[in-house]
Amino acid sequence: MFTSIQRRSVIVTGGSKGIGRGIARVFAAAGANVLITARDADGLASAADALAGLAGSVSTLAVDVTDPLDCAAMVRTAVERYGGLDVLCANAGIFPSRRLEDLTASDVDEVLGINLKGTIFSVQAAVEALTASGRGRIVLTSSITGPMTGYPGWSHYGASKAAQLGFMRTAAMELAKRKITVNAVLPGNIKTEGLDGMGQQYLDGMAESVPLGRLGEVADIGNAALFFASDEAAYITGQSLVVDGGQVLPESAAALAEI
Ligand code: NAP
Repeated sequence: MFTSIQRRSVIVTGGSKGIGRGIARVFAAAGANVLITARDADGLASAADALAGLAGSVSTLAVDVTDPLDCAAMVRTAVERYGGLDVLCANAGIFPSRRLEDLTASDVDEVLGINLKGTIFSVQAAVEALTASGRGRIVLTSSITGPMTGYPGWSHYGASKAAQLGFMRTAAMELAKRKITVNAVLPGNIKTEGLDGMGQQYLDGMAESVPLGRLGEVADIGNAALFFASDEAAYITGQSLVVDGGQVLPESAAALAEI
């Protein structure tokens, strides 16, 4: 039995859709107070409606994680509304596909700006409030793409997701004396609005490549984040957890065909 996280204060960046909204649902269902953030205020409002009526509360703030001032305002808001901050889920991210030969400097800047710099700015903004909590937790949403696998069109994205893990390891060391842990969830292919944009053929092909036979649900990632945020995970830091239905396991297409 895990210790209750009721009334803990949680921020989920990119919480208006997809995995972020799924993480917010898992934490709010467990009784936490969750501030969800994203750029689009209308998207946040619909997510808050969809998450109403759970054991914990959900509120919203429009934030662009590429702006350190926005990230500071995000943390201030959570502290004001919920009396502190216990958990930061740095999840906001984008995954536009562009082959290497077509990749522009602005494509690279955009992906690294949101996925990597946005993660760093969110974490920096949260450090003091998480220290005051005495049991601060940071959970990054990375990916199997980059740290473990490659996929044509996602060289810049994969670089950003691997870079998050490089950042995590030193952040975990620097923040250890503040009793803050920093860990990462590495999702495989999870059913989200963002992934839907890849088209049905991509989704079907991906589901066939997963030994457990299905794409992931957002709750699968939320549950992993909840574990890292739990009191029981207090001695785990700088680690990554792959949540992919076994997708990275097969050595070859033949191995997959044999199961
Ligand atoms: P999604 O459905 O497209 O949702 C992305 C979220 O991030 C939205 O809330 C979006 O809201 C927000 N966001 C994007 N840019 C932002 C910015 N500059 N500032 C603040 N918020 C921003 O994507 P998803 O599939 O849930 O992906 C979420 C995370 O999981 C990403 O880090 C992604 O790399 C990772 N991931 C996803 C999968 C998958 O299969 N879906 C697999 C591995 C890893 P706004 O656009 O309104 O800002």
